[in-house]
Amino acid sequence: MTSVFHRIPKRQLPVAIRGDGMYIIDQDGKRYLDGYAGGACVSCLGHSQPDVITAVQDQIAKMAYFHGAIFTSEPLEELASILTTDAPQGLTRVFFTNSGSEAVETALMMARQYFVEIGQSQRKQVIGRRSSYHGAGITGLGVGHQVARRRPFEDILPNVFHISPCYEYRGRLESETLEQYGLRVADELEQAILGLGPDTVMAFVAETVTGTTSGATPPVPGYFKRIREICDKYGVLLVLDEVFCGLGRTGTLHACEQDGVAPDFLTIAKGIAGGYQPIGATLVHQKVYDAIVLGSGSYKGGYTYSGHATACAAAVAVQKCLRAPGFLDNVQTMGALLASRLKEQFGQHPHIGDIRGRGMLMTLELVENRQTKAPFPASRGLSSSIYQSALSKGLITHALPGTVDGHVGDHVVICPPLIANSDHIETIVELLGEAIDAALVENR
Ligand code: PLP
Repeated sequence: MTSVFHRIPKRQLPVAIRGDGMYIIDQDGKRYLDGYAGGACVSCLGHSQPDVITAVQDQIAKMAYFHGAIFTSEPLEELASILTTDAPQGLTRVFFTNSGSEAVETALMMARQYFVEIGQSQRKQVIGRRSSYHGAGITGLGVGHQVARRRPFEDILPNVFHISPCYEYRGRLESETLEQYGLRVADELEQAILGLGPDTVMAFVAETVTGTTSGATPPVPGYFKRIREICDKYGVLLVLDEVFCGLGRTGTLHACEQDGVAPDFLTIAKGIAGGYQPIGATLVHQKVYDAIVLGSGSYKGGYTYSGHATACAAAVAVQKCLRAPGFLDNVQTMGALLASRLKEQFGQHPHIGDIRGRGMLMTLELVENRQTKAPFPASRGLSSSIYQSALSKGLITHALPGTVDGHVGDHVVICPPLIANSDHIETIVELLGEAIDAALVENR
């Protein structure tokens, strides 16, 4: 009997004993192909990579940790320099956290402190998007919109205004082009700012490509350019959350590069140390840094383990791998293969309504009826049957009921470690096909 308070206590969890590249091995020696990368964490190096193990061991032996208000450390300085050298324009500073939730919270706290420092303390309002996820704490749940997880806490969440997500499959009208649709949903931001009062809004927060709440949903072309224009017009800070989709997952270092925008804050986490150590970060615009440093002189947030030396040492090893020549080219090639194999396998499937994503972050959206796009009833529990069926076949995937702008639906997210080769992709697609068909039959 376990005394661990697992998040889903009714779920029988195998005991993971060992990692090996693309695989996890359990206590019975069963090998699972990792199609989910531990939640898009296990990024470029896969499991048990010797260079990272050595980096962690060496750093622990020298000095595991020291408080960041008293000392800086070599791995901390090196990591910050790597992350800011090729960051989106203007993001010249990095503040370290222990998780993605804290990275989002840090961005919002810094946004607020920035406006207080520059004499605009009336700016308090945050705007987010429905169907998004920005972390499991009170701040993240408030800015995000994962309906089921918010429910018990609704009354104590911060007051955040939510606009529509950019979700072409269900949102675009037949009469609209992709671009027209993107501009229409982006313009909801302007309407929200005008409705709330332009001088009261401090930040707009969005995932560049959404992660799991609504399945991997990339923006349509032009959407974020318009969002950036609106933020600039009204002096609102743009926070792009790339905790899930950042650091190579979409085929470029940062997902927003492909949308041609640079935010004022960029939050990253999972891919920083590839799951070898817990670490997150908020990349910060120089203007925010200057306002705080030249103003009151110090940022008033921060965490005991911010910039943990061992976590930074692991991250330096991972980040060097991500930037090695050819690495991201291979992610793009394998991402394109994954997309085309999913389309071949599931393009005509009667219950796959949408196949979408970017790079090595793809989603299948299941529907009862492809014509009407009606989802299966939630009571049918299709997602969990797919998840269990895949697991029994030795494939780890992410299949959960999601909420997409009011639609509860079943999504399967596929985001393997970025070292996946074509054989791994073939096996993922094949096992997924078997798991989905088995679940649809069993679950009738
Ligand atoms: N933001 C996004 C987009 C995420 O996907 C997640 C986690 O999945 C978070 C924030 C929260 O990160 P963490 O679980 O490390 O706190």
